[in-house]
Amino acid sequence: MKPTFHHRAINSPFDDPCVYVRALREKRALLFDLGHTNRLKPADIQKITDVFVTHTHIDHFIGFDTLLRALLRRETPLRIFGPPNIIECIEGKLRGYTWNLIKEYPLKIEAFGINEKHISHAGFYAENCFNKTDYGEKPFDGTLLKEGYFEVKAACLTHQISCLGFSLEEDFHINIDKAALNSEQLGVGPWLSEFKRAVRENAGGDTEFKISGRIHTKKELMKIAMITEGQKISYVADSSMDEENIRKIITLAKDSDTLYCEAYFLEEDRERAIERHHLTAKTAGMIAREAGVKNLVVMHFSPKYRERPEAPEKEALMEYNKE
Ligand SMILES: [Zn+2]
Ligand SMILES: [Zn+2]
Repeated sequence: MKPTFHHRAINSPFDDPCVYVRALREKRALLFDLGHTNRLKPADIQKITDVFVTHTHIDHFIGFDTLLRALLRRETPLRIFGPPNIIECIEGKLRGYTWNLIKEYPLKIEAFGINEKHISHAGFYAENCFNKTDYGEKPFDGTLLKEGYFEVKAACLTHQISCLGFSLEEDFHINIDKAALNSEQLGVGPWLSEFKRAVRENAGGDTEFKISGRIHTKKELMKIAMITEGQKISYVADSSMDEENIRKIITLAKDSDTLYCEAYFLEEDRERAIERHHLTAKTAGMIAREAGVKNLVVMHFSPKYRERPEAPEKEALMEYNKE
């Protein structure tokens, strides 16, 4: 099955967290957390349309400047979603520079700050020297972004401060049955993506497609489409190990194909993890098991384990694989 999203952590688990998600059918990518982005190629950075920041500790937000620098001349706006203080943090970053010569530049930053009940929106536009435009707030129901074929949800967590966890979920996945395509003598062509779009948008059965000079209806063509569950990727960084957080993370990550989860401390340093408001590797493993996650990727390890870099993953997977 051809996936809809390719995803990868761009830094090592001992470096600042940042996961790059490429939406393969569009020239578009999403970013979870804004650790250092220096390892991304310029062309990869240009594809980023939406950034989801868990919280604004420096290791999760330091990549903002690199992104801003690279996107100044881009027409497509950049959306940044984060905890309640993200709008003032973006404003603060932007106020750190002088912007008298950028009025001709197209970049528009749309910033969204999320709390349990509301989502606040502000815009920062180059044409306006990045001064803030306030759009007020709207009720928040858990969904940050709803696109044609996927949505991104957020859970409000704690890490002494407010912090978010994210899930990216494709509605469903359409596979084309190649054998049926051949036996029906339907040649491949641009009609296939139009047909997939019609299925996704639930178009009427009499919607027509011209294939090699002949007209076929959507209803007729449905026999070549195999509908399977969509891809789901979840991302959870720094979180306190309290029961409520753990319950919220399990709900958020339920049945994910991949969960990226912090494992800053080992269970042997549990006291320290509680004090510093982080999860242990063992807890990450338990969360993934309880949520029925298919693939757990642990990340964001304390430098104290540099001498035994495999330890956090080993501990998490041992717990994850427990019967
Ligand atoms: Zn943190
Ligand atoms: Zn961190």
